[in-house]
Amino acid sequence: MGRFFGTDGIRGVVNETLTPEFVLRMSLAIGSFFDEGAKVLVGRDARAGGEMIKSIVIGGLLSSGVRVYDAGYTPIPALQYCIKEGGFDGGIMITASHNPPEYNGIKVIGPDGIEIPRESENTIEDIYLNTRFRTPGWRSIVSDVIDYKICNEIYVDSVVKLVDREVISKAGFRVVIDPVNSVGALTTPRIAMKLGVQPIVINGTFNPYFPSRNPEPTPETLVTTAKLVREYGAVAGFAHDADADRVIVIDENGIVQWGDRTATLLASYLRRERGEKGVKVFTAVSSSMVVEDALRPLGVSVVWMKVGSVDIAHEMKKHPDALCGFEENGGFMYPPHQYVRDGGMTMALFLEMLARLRSKPSELYDRLPKLFVVKKKYRMEREKALNVVEKVKEMFKHERQITVDGVKVIGKGYWFLVRPSGTEPLLRVMLEAESEGKAKELIDVIEGIVGTIEGEKQ
Ligand code: MG
Repeated sequence: MGRFFGTDGIRGVVNETLTPEFVLRMSLAIGSFFDEGAKVLVGRDARAGGEMIKSIVIGGLLSSGVRVYDAGYTPIPALQYCIKEGGFDGGIMITASHNPPEYNGIKVIGPDGIEIPRESENTIEDIYLNTRFRTPGWRSIVSDVIDYKICNEIYVDSVVKLVDREVISKAGFRVVIDPVNSVGALTTPRIAMKLGVQPIVINGTFNPYFPSRNPEPTPETLVTTAKLVREYGAVAGFAHDADADRVIVIDENGIVQWGDRTATLLASYLRRERGEKGVKVFTAVSSSMVVEDALRPLGVSVVWMKVGSVDIAHEMKKHPDALCGFEENGGFMYPPHQYVRDGGMTMALFLEMLARLRSKPSELYDRLPKLFVVKKKYRMEREKALNVVEKVKEMFKHERQITVDGVKVIGKGYWFLVRPSGTEPLLRVMLEAESEGKAKELIDVIEGIVGTIEGEKQ
């Protein structure tokens, strides 16, 4: 984690921590990171402060001799696809993704369409901290911003091309789409319509206050959306975050399904029915072990990674045998389209799966093992959180462990993950077990360790 860059870009409260002064210096640093004359595509979501930040970013980029293309309002996967396919040297998305409404932020994207890797973030931070901004002479600062508001069309067409429109349109589907008052409204309903699917769009107008729900799609924030899926008799619901790289699926009964379960269904479908060649899926340790159990019989193995989609994307790109990548929060990456989380593409693949398998979503989800889920967090310093991790490793040393990020323990009929948060002084615990009793027993053991470490003097 850098000084300014978090798990995925720079975030802050508009005009408080994300001030115009900070944004200007940061965009001078980002502009200087790109080569002089580089083509950089800039887009934004519907968040408050978006136009203020975008204008300053564009000013900073122009000052450092970069050529700026303006994509306007666009989901980040659409921007990323256009950067990759349009021969750009990089891009910038003004968004705070799933954060609460007062936040906005900056994501920097490389020429391959993926958010830049950690090393590049460090380079930008060095330029910022040492004020090593490139300031070409006035004769070089002559280019205008070039209008490039065609990303949404390009993206919609590219998604539709990768699925079987005929099979999907014959199914006569109706779906609920919830773009949470932001840019997913520009593309996801159009993808549905082009596939012959009837979209019922809720929260489809831009509103920077997000009056309908929190921008993060979770079972807690999607209560109303889920109710509408049932009431409208839709085959499924698709709910985005504010930059529309995530999509959470709601089944026809109004049950909100976590992304790792959806991704498991999609990975099986890609391998079995679509006959795709990939044999590896890439996901964070926070995903369920259901993934591994369900995919093993298909000859697909799981590469367990640290939490954070950017690292997953860069790692996956190195493997020609990658089938897909994902996070449990609804970010799903499909390599034939692009190596980034891609909400619109995910919906299209899901619809094709439903149409071809002639199944209702609940029938598919019900085939996956049902586990009792517990998610907990304990406020504690990182140092102490790491001590808890060490104690857990020792206590469960006879069980299988994955230690790329905290410790994931896999036992008979259960698994759990204990890890320090990357951004806050928290210890996070995720646990799944076959029974509530087993879950409680394990949580008691973990809480015992937490209590011991909490009681120790530093
Ligand atoms: Mg997002």
